[in-house]
Amino acid sequence: MKITNPATMETITTVKEDTENSLNEKFQMLQEGQMKWKRKSLDERIKIISKYYDLLEQNKDKLAAILTSEVGKPLGESLGEISGARFRTKFFLENTSKWLKKEQVFDDGRTKDVLDFEPLGVVCNISAWNYPFLVGTNVFIPALLAGNAVLYKPSEFSTLTGMEIRNLLLQAGVPANVFEIGIGGKDVGEVLLGLDFDGYFFTGSYKTGKYIASKVASKLVPIGLELGGKDPIYVTDDVDVEKAAGMAVEGAFYNNGQSCCAVERVYVHEKIYDKFVDAFVKECKKLKVGDPTNKDTNQGPLTRSEQIAVLEDQVKDAVKLGAKLALGGDRPNLKGSYFNPTVLTDVNHKMKVMKDESFGPIIGIQKVKSDLDATVLMNDTEYGLTSGVFCKDNARAEKILADINSGNAYVNCCDRVSPYLPWAGRKNSGVGATLSYLGILTFVKPKGYHLRNF
Ligand code: NAD
Repeated sequence: MKITNPATMETITTVKEDTENSLNEKFQMLQEGQMKWKRKSLDERIKIISKYYDLLEQNKDKLAAILTSEVGKPLGESLGEISGARFRTKFFLENTSKWLKKEQVFDDGRTKDVLDFEPLGVVCNISAWNYPFLVGTNVFIPALLAGNAVLYKPSEFSTLTGMEIRNLLLQAGVPANVFEIGIGGKDVGEVLLGLDFDGYFFTGSYKTGKYIASKVASKLVPIGLELGGKDPIYVTDDVDVEKAAGMAVEGAFYNNGQSCCAVERVYVHEKIYDKFVDAFVKECKKLKVGDPTNKDTNQGPLTRSEQIAVLEDQVKDAVKLGAKLALGGDRPNLKGSYFNPTVLTDVNHKMKVMKDESFGPIIGIQKVKSDLDATVLMNDTEYGLTSGVFCKDNARAEKILADINSGNAYVNCCDRVSPYLPWAGRKNSGVGATLSYLGILTFVKPKGYHLRNF
């Protein structure tokens, strides 16, 4: 399989894809390895993963360079991602013991009830390319800590990073038959769906997630799906417009808009709409598009060149239906898969740009009359990952957000993930939760001991 640099469209290297046979072998090895791994104490497993945590820091420059070369995100963002993955890993290192502790929950003198947790077994993690360190960490770190073995399938667009993750975990002391990777694309994923894993954890698009859920449903094992979004923010009439515009631009364009929780729709109160649009466009004009290895680049190429056609279609559709193209809509004169920051104003919900996940540097801004108007529009989506309100009055913001059907609610922030809170999409954004204590319990099954003496 060819690994391409999206900034130059040149081949970085070629790697050997897994086959049905090699995946079968890896699966069997993992089944054997998991039996020993689960018998290690949690403290021993914590020690090993702590080493991985250190190795991420020691190798961060090399890892960031590899990540940037295959996904095209600016080097600073790659470093930021590695540091974010360490922060999440630290959360799991510090909190897993507390949540997986065996606990006596009842005693009436005759019977003691004890609650314990056991690992699921060998779990399959089919993953995405946009934040391979982060979304991988959500799954394989708590899964390994809890005593599972993991078959991690990195996206075909972040294969080299997946290989590096494996090297570091093994170097840290995770046995080779406890963490393995599946190299390849859709076909490798299909083979994994046919094997009898004890749980399937997927990060990727709604389309693939829905397909995977239907394929593995009859296995009756836990399934976790972290899928796409069409995340809205609402800017109320009482804000500092420049400040709000700056935060909104960051939320919409960070990682080229290729974040599941990127701001994809902006609603602005009519009283400040014109001023906000001006400030937003002015801020966007500061974004430097170009070589992601340059320190001052804000926006590299899109990771998948096919996405350019999706963005062009959204622009065409919106303009045809009456939107104004306030900025961009075209490609810079560069060799890689670049697309300029694009702002569409006077949009409405008939347009694709306000309904379908864009996953690129494009945003629609819509005028609203009231908080109620904004609430109705924010809820008018098939997705439900995050939503945000920018407002000086936190109580007003929280009141609006209480009525929005999404798993995360942001007040005066956006495009943010915290390991202390569950990452859980609603509707087409997913099923289940990772991160927080819920994301530790995701990778275990409970066992209730009913203890009596003879
Ligand atoms: P994708 O669905 O194209 O691919 C995801 C993974 O599934 C890849 O590893 C791919 O090889 C594999 N795959 C594809 N077809 C398969 C099949 N038939 N059987 C088994 N495996 C198959 O998604 P992507 O382009 O890698 O990621 C982008 C999407 O992921 C966006 O929609 C984004 O919003 C979403 N995402 C969500 C979260 C979240 O936490 N909710 C995080 C990151 C990305």
